[in-house]
Amino acid sequence: MPERALPPGSTIGILGGGQLGRMLAMAAARLGLKTHIYSDEADAPAFDVAHTRTVGRYADQDALARFAASCAVVTCEFENVPAETLQAVARAVPVLPGAKSFAVAQDRLVEKDFVTGLGVSVAPYVKVDGAEDLRRALARVRVPALLKTRRFGYDGKGQIVIRGEDEIAAALDAIGHAPALVEGIVPFEREVSLIVVRGQDGALQFYDPVENVHQDGILAISRAPARIAQALAVEARTIAGKLAEALGHVGVLCVEMFARGGDRPALIVNEFAPRVHNSGHWTLDACLVSQFENHIRAICGWPLGETARHSDAVMTNLIGSDVDNWRELAAEPDTAVHLYGKAAARAGRKMGHVTHLYPKS
Ligand code: AMP
Repeated sequence: MPERALPPGSTIGILGGGQLGRMLAMAAARLGLKTHIYSDEADAPAFDVAHTRTVGRYADQDALARFAASCAVVTCEFENVPAETLQAVARAVPVLPGAKSFAVAQDRLVEKDFVTGLGVSVAPYVKVDGAEDLRRALARVRVPALLKTRRFGYDGKGQIVIRGEDEIAAALDAIGHAPALVEGIVPFEREVSLIVVRGQDGALQFYDPVENVHQDGILAISRAPARIAQALAVEARTIAGKLAEALGHVGVLCVEMFARGGDRPALIVNEFAPRVHNSGHWTLDACLVSQFENHIRAICGWPLGETARHSDAVMTNLIGSDVDNWRELAAEPDTAVHLYGKAAARAGRKMGHVTHLYPKS
């Protein structure tokens, strides 16, 4: 164990108070660690399970300084934390993962350049700043293509399909004329993701790759393990390890990829998240040590925990009114129900998830 491992009883700060922060706090509690949640929402789901809470804006330097002073280490549960917020906290206490992981992941163009620079494939892409760029880009990328904002896109937000030059004006309006890129559509067989955790000493541990089904741009189902060739599973690990090392990342990193089948199977990276991820929720029930606990272990300098799956798993998100079925879901065999304690079940809102376990294949 590294000498600077934080002992039980230490306080971990978490920027963001959603379900990811909540599950991180619960994992920390299992190890006897305390959490201090900082959120700009008074009813943040993570507040229910944390030792200390702060409601504050992410630009409130004084509140951030007080928060940082109370913590031994700080981490984030969402990737769009403003750089100034990270800097304000990092003046007083280590922030892990570090600024580079966030800077790269927050900008799709920087992210794609970074991934490409490591010799890893991404969809064809062209930078777009305005109508003239977009016209030129459409000549280079086959249509239909996707116009995506560089920043603040998630769950399918900030992107639109574009089929030709006549749609340029409407497409730019739709993304609010934000800095963007155009991306070729990948004819994938499956979408897969892989979670890697990297320790402060550079140790790497990998969870099995999973396959993901999205509905309306939101993750609906993750199946572990992914039904892909062994060679692709190995390649997915190699890619995730390369990214984590090149970022100097500490903690959990999730890499989302498209898997092409056929004669020449291949993986194409879509994006990565420098944090625990919805496609890793299955690890709470199908692995000895979950993505949440391993993230906490990594940022606290503890040895990483076992990532092998002991069961196969299918994780289904409970979105909006799906959560109304909690009674029936709780009665299902071999099923773990996780509810996030959110008051209002608005359409499209992630309210919880269920994981069905199956014997290991
Ligand atoms: P993103 O916001 O980049 O994660 O995209 C959300 C979803 O849109 C992905 O999970 C895919 O289902 C789909 N998607 C995004 N980019 C592409 C692409 N280049 N080719 C095909 N599908 C894509």
